[in-house]
Amino acid sequence: RAKDQGRNRYEYYTHELTRQVSERFRLERDLRRAIERDELYLVWQPQFCLATEALIGAECLIRWQHPEHGLVSPAQFIPLAEESDLILSIGDWVLCSAIKTMSPWRARAPNLKVSINLSPRQLSAAGLSQRIRSLTEQYGVSPGLIQLELTESGLMESQDVNAWLQQEAAALGLLLSIDDFGTGYSSLSRLKALPINQLKIDRSFVMDIPEDKNDMAITRSIIGLARGLELEVVAEGVETAYQAQFLREAGCDIAQGYYYSRPISAAEFAARYLGR
Ligand code: C2E
Ligand code: MG
Ligand code: MG
Ligand code: MG
Repeated sequence: RAKDQGRNRYEYYTHELTRQVSERFRLERDLRRAIERDELYLVWQPQFCLATEALIGAECLIRWQHPEHGLVSPAQFIPLAEESDLILSIGDWVLCSAIKTMSPWRARAPNLKVSINLSPRQLSAAGLSQRIRSLTEQYGVSPGLIQLELTESGLMESQDVNAWLQQEAAALGLLLSIDDFGTGYSSLSRLKALPINQLKIDRSFVMDIPEDKNDMAITRSIIGLARGLELEVVAEGVETAYQAQFLREAGCDIAQGYYYSRPISAAEFAARYLGR
């Protein structure tokens, strides 16, 4: 009996594993076709100066409208894409769409910054800076308005990243941000050496303010660190007026989150914030 049960369980797990593996294969196959089938799009989330409430910029976030599964979250398909070269074509699609979309916004908001998430693999691949240079030239966008976001864990993982950042990104005049800051293991000496202009406090520290006193202390420390290193500091995932007030008083520069706006379409962003 026990043996039977064991076998059943084994069969169940094998079956479950097979199902998951083939599901991943299907998703990867579908993702490969997503660009040509026009299933990817960007949504935009505004960022505001905490002191003046002025609009500073917007982060673009990728979305995938799958023909059968509906909306698939980037938290699901970006890690899958990062396991292969797929992330390179998706990353390129994001860069191109973002720069193209922001181009007509310059007339209404000449200093509006656009934050674009990059995967570390994009930096190791050849030609990224050339590509960004030609896209910014083609669409008449200043590289100084493009804020590239790299996650803290991605940054600390790879040495290629370091070289690219030092030599190429800085030369082009791109802005560099460390995303999800506080969740990885930055060495503070390395942080000092990176040509970054911004730290982005991870949402996990912001979401439990004011209930979690430890998170409040960590958030204050990150803001203090950023100020000490003369970096701009952004809080993501701001959902309440209280959190915005706390961040403002703690000296945080910029905030982004559902309290201000969810990520919205480019058309809605322009209508709401750029007066057209
Ligand atoms: P991220 O760059 O840290 O983006 C912030 C995430 O928090 C976004 O999730 C955003 O929709 C969500 N968010 C913003 N404000 C709030 C809030 O007030 N409350 C809550 N609960 N959530 C909020 P999203 O769009 O699902 O993206 C997840 C992650 O996927 C991003 O985290 C980023 O790491 C990655 N990602 C998104 N777009 C791209 C892309 O174009 N390229 C790459 N490489 N990664 C991307
Ligand atoms: Mg980001
Ligand atoms: Mg983040
Ligand atoms: Mg995050």
